[in-house]
Amino acid sequence: MQVFVVGRSTLDLKAVNSFLESEDLEWRRSDSATESEELVELAGRTCYLSFGERQSPRSNSAYIFNLIRSGHESVLEHVSWTFLITGISRALTHQLVRHRIGFSYSQLSQQYYEVDGTAMIVPAEIASHPKALAVWEESVEASRTAYHKILEILRELPSSVDLSKKEFLRGIRSAARSLLPNATETKIVVTANARALRHFLEIRGDIVGDEEMRRLAATLLEPLKMEAPALFDDFAIGKLADQSPIVHKLEASSKLSGERNVAIW
Ligand SMILES: Cc1cc2nc3c(=O)[nH]c(=O)nc-3n(C[C@H](O)[C@H](O)[C@H](O)COP(=O)(O)OP(=O)(O)OC[C@H]3O[C@@H](n4cnc5c(N)ncnc54)[C@H](O)[C@@H]3O)c2cc1C
Repeated sequence: MQVFVVGRSTLDLKAVNSFLESEDLEWRRSDSATESEELVELAGRTCYLSFGERQSPRSNSAYIFNLIRSGHESVLEHVSWTFLITGISRALTHQLVRHRIGFSYSQLSQQYYEVDGTAMIVPAEIASHPKALAVWEESVEASRTAYHKILEILRELPSSVDLSKKEFLRGIRSAARSLLPNATETKIVVTANARALRHFLEIRGDIVGDEEMRRLAATLLEPLKMEAPALFDDFAIGKLADQSPIVHKLEASSKLSGERNVAIW
């Protein structure tokens, strides 16, 4: 599995300064905050116009911590990341795309793209068990062979005047892919905002019986922690006994998440 961070939110400081000047406001910025973190802070401060004299001495990270613990999380929706993810199974992406809110997807098509080598993702439980692996490999190879055979047979069908070549190919690939296993490797571009990502990490990161999903959660969290530590500091990556990763939401934050009406500015 590989995750490439191919896009991220940026802060246009020139525009921000124009806004501040137009309102005769001053924003005391934290030295170490990243662009994503500052964008969240800017959005939060705009809600209360807490700039200048109305700005508390809180650092950016303390400000964001406070936003999260007070439940003012819509502000986190202003920053997003775009990930290009490869080396994951169709089984995993079927679960991933169930996340509807704050997520956008573009996935490799099995109708337009013929999976030639048909790479497969071996589940960890099977990979570490030679007997199971042998059965799995045999079954996967049979599917792969059948997929190509079916395509070959259907390609020879007499061409219909009603079907363009594109639709003909779509039809036969759609039919043949019914034989491809859930393990089929896929590629997907995922854009998600920080709030949606936090929700994903919380509900998907620590499912012990779902190794591939845990691995995805941890592989997404790693760059996020570098790009916006204040937004993801309450998540930690640990390891299970088999050395596979697990993502935990830290206790301190979950205790605080019950608190409401905490002053934000
Ligand atoms: C452990 C586990 C087991 C699962 N098992 C199954 C299963 O057996 N079968 C299955 O089909 N799915 C299963 N799922 C998928 C699950 O039901 C969700 O579809 C998936 O996790 C996406 O979560 P979500 O709806 O919270 O996310 P999103 O779709 O991103 O939604 C985010 C949040 O927005 C709100 N929201 C979104 N849509 C609505 C709405 N229509 N009405 C009101 N509020 C809304 C909710 O607060 C929601 O949590 C499982 C998930 C987990 C984590």
